[in-house]
Amino acid sequence: MARQILLVEDNQSNRELFVEILRLNKEYELHVAENGIQALEMLETFSPDLILMDIHMPEMDGLAVTRTIKSIPELAAIPIVALSALAMKSDIQSALEAGCIDYITKPIRIRDFLEKIAQYSAVRETQTSGCKEQTHL
Ligand SMILES: [Mg+2]
Repeated sequence: MARQILLVEDNQSNRELFVEILRLNKEYELHVAENGIQALEMLETFSPDLILMDIHMPEMDGLAVTRTIKSIPELAAIPIVALSALAMKSDIQSALEAGCIDYITKPIRIRDFLEKIAQYSAVRETQTSGCKEQTHL
């Protein structure tokens, strides 16, 4: 089954870019939220393998959305990778402190981007593989 990725991004051009990059890749199924509120609503019924989180968004920024997700026990294990044009050390530090597992700077380099998606979307598979094996016994 394709790995489920939730992109949270307020900028339409960026959303279209990510959709285009992943459109032909059958390993992933991309779901898109236009803001943090919408993302949190989607997460009530949907548990993706990876969340790509834009940091700069109106109303609720990506750090606040990340902290909220990490405070919900059912969602806390989902890896979140921050997306931002700011690449100062302090910005990266803030994203990691909020609970992000890593940080991708925009404009993205497609190859690095795909490598990180592959790496982090597999995190939960690895964590839960023991349980999956047991259910087959
Ligand atoms: Mg933004």
